[in-house]
Amino acid sequence: MSPLNISLVENYRNSFLSEVEANVEGGNWVKMCMQCGVCSGSCPLGSAWEHPPQELFMMIRAGKREAVLTSASMWMCTSCYSCIVRCPRELPITHIMHGLATYAKRLGLEPKNQPTARFAEIFWNNMKHKGRVNELKLGLSLYFMNGFAKGIKETLKKQKLGMRMFKTKRVAPRELMGGGHGIKDPGGLQKILAKAEEIETSKISNQIKQD
Ligand code: SF4
Ligand code: SF4
Repeated sequence: MSPLNISLVENYRNSFLSEVEANVEGGNWVKMCMQCGVCSGSCPLGSAWEHPPQELFMMIRAGKREAVLTSASMWMCTSCYSCIVRCPRELPITHIMHGLATYAKRLGLEPKNQPTARFAEIFWNNMKHKGRVNELKLGLSLYFMNGFAKGIKETLKKQKLGMRMFKTKRVAPRELMGGGHGIKDPGGLQKILAKAEEIETSKISNQIKQD
């Protein structure tokens, strides 16, 4: 368990709902859910998930912290917004789903090897230094994310597509050199990201100190 997770378990020992309200985007809406099930019934993927949205919200109120935060369900939300437009209580369900995933990741509780979580991490690491996505490197990172041998196999499988993309200038080999293209002020971006991290960390530290 990460030190941050241990502190938060202590801090919100009696109420996972309060923890979600304080730390998860849209979390203060969870108590408004009336368990009608419209969101789960409208979700094109929910029936295939361990816990569709309505069930996750019920579990939050029932204090099922570990089951919620280690769940793969919120990682599979595709942001289709079917749930939001139909919820009679107008809960920002999509945002809560992504908020739960982000919070779980922050605490190191995301399911290991969950494909969306891995893609999100690879995408973020690709983009954060230069402020733009290097598509060539992103594609290669994804092909090779399960090891060298599988990466080669995947690359060979996609070689025709790759060649077509090179020919039509959809990817440029020079993007592999020196980190590729980026925004004009990557240093400024790093300052913004560092500040955002500082704010998030101090928000959680202040909550822990207050209780
Ligand atoms: S549709 Fe809205 S009120 Fe109904 S279960 Fe889903 S979140 Fe709750
Ligand atoms: S936005 Fe996410 S949770 Fe809502 S219906 Fe679409 S996939 Fe399901």
